Amino acid sequence: MKLTDISKIYRIGTEKVVALENINLEIPKGEICCILGTSGSGKSTLLNLMAGLERPTKGNIKIKGKNIERMSENSLAKFRQNYVGFVFQSYNLLPALTAVENVSLPLIFRGVGKKTRNERAKKLLAQVGLEKHLKHKPNQMSGGQQQRVGIARAFVGKPEIIFADEPTGNLDSKTTIEVMKLITGIARENNQTLIIVTHDVNIAKYADRIVYILDGNIEKIEKTVSAEGEI
Ligand code: ADP
Ligand code: ADP
Repeated sequence: MKLTDISKIYRIGTEKVVALENINLEIPKGEICCILGTSGSGKSTLLNLMAGLERPTKGNIKIKGKNIERMSENSLAKFRQNYVGFVFQSYNLLPALTAVENVSLPLIFRGVGKKTRNERAKKLLAQVGLEKHLKHKPNQMSGGQQQRVGIARAFVGKPEIIFADEPTGNLDSKTTIEVMKLITGIARENNQTLIIVTHDVNIAKYADRIVYILDGNIEKIEKTVSAEGEI
């Protein structure tokens, strides 16, 4: 994915808010990239632009040879269905559905049949250690367990890119480590691109690269040395 001269300006009445200013960033396939910055620095705006949820005021975003800022709403929805997974801070599970049903959701959007959906959802739930919680509803699970369901849902359709917005924002430090190991482990295993947005420097160390955002600008980009010793 390549972002060229991206700016995003919000207008509130006569006032202009420059959320992002001339961002240039290339994220190679399979990279685990952390967007790190304080509240209001422009992280969520950047994620929303990369995921095709918002359009830039200026500049282009190229993914798989396509400029997504030029795509129609319909094509963008298809793009998200087929290439993108999301992990949210507040899990965003549907409360009336079981873990298996929540994880199956992205596959319903893609028209995958029920038997295959269930098989794949169960496989992913086993991978995140929830094989004994398949029929549990969100309110019968801890925050950490709910986020594991959220991770299983994000990965179930084997998307090429997974966006995680403060994925550990509601978790204690022990659960944070477990969740980060899980999410980065699955992404690495399948060579999926993982883009994590956070204000927490402690989770940035799980990434290959840290992009520091300050007041809508890239302050610096740092490579990290991962636990496996990879650069
Ligand atoms: P972060 O995710 O780092 O907290 P955001 O991307 O949410 O930062 O916000 C960056 C700036 O853009 C902030 O000043 C915020 O108030 C502003 N902003 C974000 N979204 C909107 C919006 N929809 N309308 C107006 N201003 C917005
Ligand atoms: P919008 O809010 O822009 O209308 P939708 O909610 O209609 O977007 O979702 C569009 C696509 O994005 C869905 O078909 C789905 O594939 C993907 N998507 C949205 N939310 C999630 C989610 N929680 N988990 C996985 N994919 C999601």
